[in-house]
Amino acid sequence: MSDGRGAEVRANLRDVEQRLAAACDAAGRGRSELTLVAVTKMFPASDIRLLAEAGVTDIGENRDQEAAPKAHECGDLPLTWHFVGQLQTNKCRSVARYADYVHSVDRDRLIRALGGAAHQAGRVVRCLIEVRLDGDEGRGGAAPADVPGLADRIAATEGLVPAGVMGIAPLGGEPARAFATLAEVAGRLRRAHPEATAVSAGMSGDLEEAVKCGATHVRIGTALLGNRPLRR
Ligand SMILES: *Cc1c(COP(=O)(O)O)cnc(C)c1O
Repeated sequence: MSDGRGAEVRANLRDVEQRLAAACDAAGRGRSELTLVAVTKMFPASDIRLLAEAGVTDIGENRDQEAAPKAHECGDLPLTWHFVGQLQTNKCRSVARYADYVHSVDRDRLIRALGGAAHQAGRVVRCLIEVRLDGDEGRGGAAPADVPGLADRIAATEGLVPAGVMGIAPLGGEPARAFATLAEVAGRLRRAHPEATAVSAGMSGDLEEAVKCGATHVRIGTALLGNRPLRR
């Protein structure tokens, strides 16, 4: 944890905060409406510590094998943990022990497994329903039409709370269009579940479009920590 790395992370955070402030200004929104989730996958726990020292409160990870030990190592820090990656049912027991939010809930089997795990761990896991924004069924995410039913099931499951929606803009597509679709789905969900206010959208490359479309959570990795090292 060299001082050079700390200075680098602080400078990156200042740049991201500037972009968020400009995007909020342009959209007539307040910065306090937005939660910055620092996505720290493939970076060491020491970077999470540096981010926390710089004032970051929310951490995102996408693989349980990596996230569980890092969350354990950072257990002394006042952080909120977001699981943002595709989730297999056999990882739910582990994820429910540290994740405050899961952004990738997209099917009934996962709701059952995560609910059982949260109940067993004596925790509450806030669930964002991942919405498929590119029509590609091979990837994760629920079809927009399936969101109301999934939300009802989450609300009926002990240990789980419906918290909102998450979306990833399709590669090579128009983020503004994808995020407009997500905003529509989010609006419909809020009418049925007023507490489900989270709209998780926007990454390093498209946070401006996401803020414009009403994102409440942006998930930022590269712009904060640099290019990810290759997975070994
Ligand atoms: C890695 C990841 C991010 C962060 O992406 P960057 O482009 O590095 O900001 C956001 N969301 C999810 C689901 C991710 O897996």
